[in-house]
Amino acid sequence: MHIAILGAGAMGSLFGGLLAVAGHRVTLLDVDDAHLNAINEAGLRLTTDAGERVVANLEALRPEAATTPADLLIVFTKTLHTQAALGAAHAVLGPQTALLSLQNGLGNAERLAQFADPARVMIGVTTWPADKNGPGRVSSHGQGVIRLMSADGAHSPMLSRTVQALNDAGLACSADADVWAAIWEKVAFNSALNSLCAVTGCTVGELTNVPDGEALALKIVAEVAAVAHAHGVAVNEAHVADNVRHALAHHRAHRPSMLQDVIAGRKTEIEAINGAVVEAAGMRAIAVPYTTALLHLVRLVDAKDSV
Ligand code: NAD
Repeated sequence: MHIAILGAGAMGSLFGGLLAVAGHRVTLLDVDDAHLNAINEAGLRLTTDAGERVVANLEALRPEAATTPADLLIVFTKTLHTQAALGAAHAVLGPQTALLSLQNGLGNAERLAQFADPARVMIGVTTWPADKNGPGRVSSHGQGVIRLMSADGAHSPMLSRTVQALNDAGLACSADADVWAAIWEKVAFNSALNSLCAVTGCTVGELTNVPDGEALALKIVAEVAAVAHAHGVAVNEAHVADNVRHALAHHRAHRPSMLQDVIAGRKTEIEAINGAVVEAAGMRAIAVPYTTALLHLVRLVDAKDSV
């Protein structure tokens, strides 16, 4: 397959690199010129539990420089850059191009469907982690999975080919009709821990420095689960709460991506996470006071960084 990756940062480079190793034709599209130049000059340096390898059979371009339609476009920008990126990469989108988002947050299928036939949009969630370690260098440690589905729920040849390609790359992918519950469960987890750490500057473990920290995180999980249930999505609140407790106990030094964005002076994905939950809550007249307060607080932090 010809696979284009739009947003070739930590996740996009990991996925693009592994898909290229599996023999697919991969085009990385990004606006980070230092990263693109490093890949074009010396290949992508990919460090995983299998060791470090250099992936050389990759094209790396700015989105507007791409000219050939891809069979599959995987969007891996941060959610706030999706539309600008898709607008610039229009030449990659042919009449048959399938689109996939594994980005965090809500509203990803809708954003992709602004640029393509909704029947060609797939949506999913992944537990693979990745870090960008400098121009041309990414790393990922541990194991993950991908769960995805066509946004309209249909089983199509496009869905099967995509699942196959991601499995060929060793990314443990399955088609899963319950993917919306998995997406909302990740949103519930991130609404709690990402926003609390972004506002306080705490690592995940430091949220337990006061007894109220865990209780606050679990209140947000309960709010998001209530909104999901009101929209007919079967989120397992107890499961998310267990994941939050596990992270508080065992991932103590972790800085969630939203905190990393704040530290780096970048805008966060708050609108696609807490923002989208507050909007969905409004549609069903559900009060989500903790999630709403954190949305406003992170917006203030974002506005400070952008001045
Ligand atoms: P990242 O910041 O490392 O990469 C995003 C890339 O998008 C950057 O290289 C940036 O230069 C590029 N970009 C920005 N604007 C662009 C534009 N207009 N056109 C093309 N490229 C553009 O982010 P990431 O950590 O790879 O995360 C990507 C998405 O995946 C996010 O939604 C995140 O929440 C989600 N996610 C991340 C992880 C992780 O461990 N990193 C895990 C699961 C999901």
